[in-house]
Amino acid sequence: MSNHQRHVLVTGAAEGVGRAIAQTFASAGARVVIADIQSADETLRLIREQGGSAEHVHCDVSSEASVVRAIAEAAELLDGRIDTLVNNAGMNGHYHLVPDMPLAAWEETLRINLTGTMLVTREATRYLAPEAATIVNVASNVGKRGLPYRGDYVASKWALIGLTQTVALELAPRGVRVNAVCPGPIEGNRIEDVMQRHADVEGATLAEMRAKWESESPLGRFVTPEEVASVVRFLADSASSAMTGQAINVTAGLVMH
Ligand code: NAD
Repeated sequence: MSNHQRHVLVTGAAEGVGRAIAQTFASAGARVVIADIQSADETLRLIREQGGSAEHVHCDVSSEASVVRAIAEAAELLDGRIDTLVNNAGMNGHYHLVPDMPLAAWEETLRINLTGTMLVTREATRYLAPEAATIVNVASNVGKRGLPYRGDYVASKWALIGLTQTVALELAPRGVRVNAVCPGPIEGNRIEDVMQRHADVEGATLAEMRAKWESESPLGRFVTPEEVASVVRFLADSASSAMTGQAINVTAGLVMH
């Protein structure tokens, strides 16, 4: 597409990868609306400072009422048309082996990462542009492999890939393409916290955890938010027009299937 300004809705863009995703679309001239449970002031400031267009709507993706209200509000800000939806909001999950998993921990992670994506997709679908609309879901490298202590998070991300394939089939007759990205560990605050939690439960130091995880990828490093954002933008754009139902790894080679 590109004869008209792209209207993009990104969830969870108050910080982290979502912020980089919002920035990459805004820098390409898109009108961006961020749906986040937190204030997105810093992301809005960064985008507007560069001359871009962005707004924020308050949204808790785990609450049906909040999603219904937020997506209607976002659609109004976008004059009733969404060209691209990026389902990025998510939480790390809890750190329990499955034999010790509290049900509430399991249900909270599934509720935010999986049910939240379904609810936002359901509500946004009615506003998707009639031609060439795209949806990109942010899954994970652990949407394709297991990881001890992360059963709730891993299950939420595998399920997200199944949801991606299903919605891709359901919306294909309307010309809507639906894909996922599966990032490896991404540099930033969140991965420091994730590694610290693994270090705590596995009896290692933070430095040992980082060295182990970096050495697991052939490129010997984590990925950056910008590297993930550029693949999201590719999947949203006509450059990927023959792709739907795919789950694309951005992992420095950590996962190859
Ligand atoms: P982050 O914690 O830095 O940002 C998450 C964003 O989602 C925040 O802006 C937060 O306010 C928002 N959010 C959280 N709960 C919400 C809710 N209930 N409703 C609305 N918004 C909510 O995380 P991140 O690292 O930027 O992760 C973004 C996505 O990338 C997530 O889906 C995550 O699972 C995925 N991911 C991250 C990594 C990594 O290493 N950081 C790796 C693979 C996949």
